[in-house]
Amino acid sequence: MKGPDCVIVGAGLAGGLLAYRLATLRPELSVLVLEAGASAGGNHTWSFHQGDLDDAALVWIAPFISARWPDYEVRFPKRGRTIRTGYASIASTDFAEILARQLGTALRTGQAVKSVGPQRVELEGGRVIEAPAVIDARGFHPSRHLDIRFQKFLGVEFAVPHGRAPLRPIVMDARRPQNDGYRFLYTLPFAPDRILVEDTYYADGDALDPDALEEDIRRYATEEGWQPGVVLRREVGILPIALGGDPVKHLQSASAAVPIGLRAGLFHPTTGYSLPDAVRTADLICAQPRLETASLSALLADHAARLWRERGLFRLLNRFMFIGADGEGRREMLQHFHRLPDDVIARFYAARLTRVDILRIFAGKPPMPIGKALSIMLQSSRLRRAGAHS
Ligand SMILES: Cc1cc2nc3c(=O)[nH]c(=O)nc-3n(C[C@H](O)[C@H](O)[C@H](O)COP(=O)(O)OP(=O)(O)OC[C@H]3O[C@@H](n4cnc5c(N)ncnc54)[C@H](O)[C@@H]3O)c2cc1C
Repeated sequence: MKGPDCVIVGAGLAGGLLAYRLATLRPELSVLVLEAGASAGGNHTWSFHQGDLDDAALVWIAPFISARWPDYEVRFPKRGRTIRTGYASIASTDFAEILARQLGTALRTGQAVKSVGPQRVELEGGRVIEAPAVIDARGFHPSRHLDIRFQKFLGVEFAVPHGRAPLRPIVMDARRPQNDGYRFLYTLPFAPDRILVEDTYYADGDALDPDALEEDIRRYATEEGWQPGVVLRREVGILPIALGGDPVKHLQSASAAVPIGLRAGLFHPTTGYSLPDAVRTADLICAQPRLETASLSALLADHAARLWRERGLFRLLNRFMFIGADGEGRREMLQHFHRLPDDVIARFYAARLTRVDILRIFAGKPPMPIGKALSIMLQSSRLRRAGAHS
């Protein structure tokens, strides 16, 4: 019996979006999706800024969007403002439902893959499935070729019985004490009576105490006057923030097949967010006339290396934040950054800064002593000359 044309391992964000896009645009291909979890998507809320995606991508991603807002707020000790660019979120429960409907029996959940090769996968239990193209979307792959720190958080979704949720997302409320790195509260009002609050840390280590954080989150929501009620769900995130590394070696170590998503290092270096990259990767792969592992691997390697080169500035800013500053200092930098106009901030999140934007980011009184900033820059250029891809 003929096997599938393509196997996708992992129906998380990147694997799920690729499978959806292939099913929509390339129905002639038989695609099999193997997901270890009980459903696609796991337990996440994936958010993005409207400007992260172009118009065509916003159209095809629209069915997945669970909530959207025309603007959002940021709050710092010396600066608070509303930023008038759109924000949207996808709940993984909605994601799972859409994928199950679109993919039908092509999506096999509860199906852990034991090993992934260029043209075969072996399931737990020993069964082997062969295909000309094998895509590896199993999520983040820690490797010594990436120098990372962490954005970590606990998120708690509450009922708000009296409909007191805020009107718009508060993407950063950094007015709380700065313990364990740069700390901020992140709030999404899904409905007047339902909010998600995340206690987030830009930290050097990945340790997290969920019980202590949940208490803090409830205290914060109470102080804000939202009167948080029963807990509806919780989510924990530990996202990589890239300071440096070697993208080529990382990709080689990530998979014998075609790595995509976090596994391929395709994430915004400063936010750890990967949704826009996952959308673009799905489009890139779908546009290929033939799906087979060798050519797709070369395509993805070029794509990842190009993005890595283009995003060097974000890794430099990360080094300023993590090597050059403590929690208070990191907050100062973010507060200083949020003086910029809405469109510059939007291009920062979209990782599409212009030269003029970069000049504006560095203009004004720097929140870090110039000597320290220069020493980090010199260290980076020394590393680059020595062959490391900082
Ligand atoms: C709680 C949380 C919230 C986040 N919020 C955002 C956000 O708001 N916006 C944003 O852009 N990014 C966000 N991120 C960061 C990033 O975008 C996500 O981690 C995203 O899910 C990564 O996509 P991925 O497809 O690479 O990996 P994942 O979504 O983690 O998918 C990997 C999939 O592979 C499956 N799998 C693993 N091993 C096997 C195996 N052996 N066999 C079969 N299946 C396997 C897993 O079960 C999982 O479903 C968040 C991350 C977390 C953890």
